[in-house]
Amino acid sequence: MYDAIVVGARCAGSPVGMLLARRGHRVLVVDRATFPSDTVSTHYIQQRGLARLSAWGLLDKLVATGAPAIKHMTVSYKDIVIAGFADAIGGIDATYAPRRTVLDPILVEGARAAGAEVREGYTVHELIFEDGRVAGIRGSEAGGEIREERARIVIGADGTNSFVANAVEAEFYTRVPAECFVYYTYYSGLRTDFHSRIGDQQQIGIWPTHDDLTLVAVMRKLDAYQDFRADVEGNFVNIARDIVPEFAEELTTHGKRESRFQPMRYPDNYYRQSHGDGWALVGDAGYHKDPLTGLGISDAFEYAELLADRVHEGLSGRPMDEALAEYQRIRDEKSHSGFEFTTSISKLELTPQLLAVFQALGSNADAAKDFFAMIGGGMTGEEFFAPERIAKLLGAGASA
Ligand SMILES: Cc1cc2nc3c(=O)[nH]c(=O)nc-3n(C[C@H](O)[C@H](O)[C@H](O)COP(=O)(O)OP(=O)(O)OC[C@H]3O[C@@H](n4cnc5c(N)ncnc54)[C@H](O)[C@@H]3O)c2cc1C
Repeated sequence: MYDAIVVGARCAGSPVGMLLARRGHRVLVVDRATFPSDTVSTHYIQQRGLARLSAWGLLDKLVATGAPAIKHMTVSYKDIVIAGFADAIGGIDATYAPRRTVLDPILVEGARAAGAEVREGYTVHELIFEDGRVAGIRGSEAGGEIREERARIVIGADGTNSFVANAVEAEFYTRVPAECFVYYTYYSGLRTDFHSRIGDQQQIGIWPTHDDLTLVAVMRKLDAYQDFRADVEGNFVNIARDIVPEFAEELTTHGKRESRFQPMRYPDNYYRQSHGDGWALVGDAGYHKDPLTGLGISDAFEYAELLADRVHEGLSGRPMDEALAEYQRIRDEKSHSGFEFTTSISKLELTPQLLAVFQALGSNADAAKDFFAMIGGGMTGEEFFAPERIAKLLGAGASA
């Protein structure tokens, strides 16, 4: 009998398993994947997420892998350019976009080193329900016998198409349809900083990662999917040319594509009921948003820690349902403004108010610093978009 079984061992699962094991609980973490392995993600991590890795003693390990530090960012919308970088947030003065083949094994080993049992290549096929509550899992290694494992709580950290969430029929209480699809790949031969630019109904993301490679991702609205697929390479380069011509020039003259194009039609944005009798959800399993704003990994870290705190309380005498309800409430409160900002900006067409804010930020370096602080998690959306601040920013823009 385990105290906790965690299904999924990537950004949400390994940290929650690690943090519970560090507190002395008996934890089993399982994943049908083996590590190192890749997953669909463009893997830019904000300061807020890196601060969690630092607090857990894992950031040095990540930096030692040679992930290039990002210390300057450009975020642009059509011809408005916001450039700069936030002051240190939680002691973090650079960001990174590590390959998931590098990041995820560090998380898995962190869980193992903390004393959690981690089973790779292990698929959960069923949940065990007893007396109206989840009591464990039935699963197997590839081709192996299906066996039962029991726990006081089963945590679904198993991503957007969460098996655990579906098995407990976790209801969606907020759902915003997805707007976009993405194609991304990796190039050698380019020298770039972080740049994310929204053009006319299309977006490009460019940032450096391991092995001297540059990740290049383009996004378009879902209704352009069939057209795009007809000529992926041509459309990919055309979008780069439309949105950032100088980069397209470098891409076509110096860039060498080093991997296939990875496509993805985004799942909807949602919040899902994330706890019940004997179960909880964390990471994308319980709450998901368009990747455009790069919140997913940092959210997975932050709310894995929050869930581990509350599950620890529940395993230590506090009524578990009360502790888990608090987890969901705090997660929703803290993530709400990021969710709203993401679903708004993922339409690839700014609202008039946001457009005015972007215009003002483009010519105000101090305010741009605050904008990057918001993006990095050093300031909430509520703080950044507080009416007095925005009035001051727009007033300064008008008188500039
Ligand atoms: C195209 C794209 C780009 C992105 N770019 C960024 C970005 O730049 N920055 C950022 O912060 N976020 C980004 N994200 C989001 C980020 O990848 C996710 O938010 C993050 O991976 C969520 O972590 P997770 O642990 O919840 O789930 P996942 O990383 O999806 O892990 C779930 C794990 O559960 C396992 N699993 C599932 N079912 C079972 C089962 N039945 N039995 C056993 N194991 C199971 C899977 O094998 C998997 O390893 C992007 C996402 C996409 C799709």
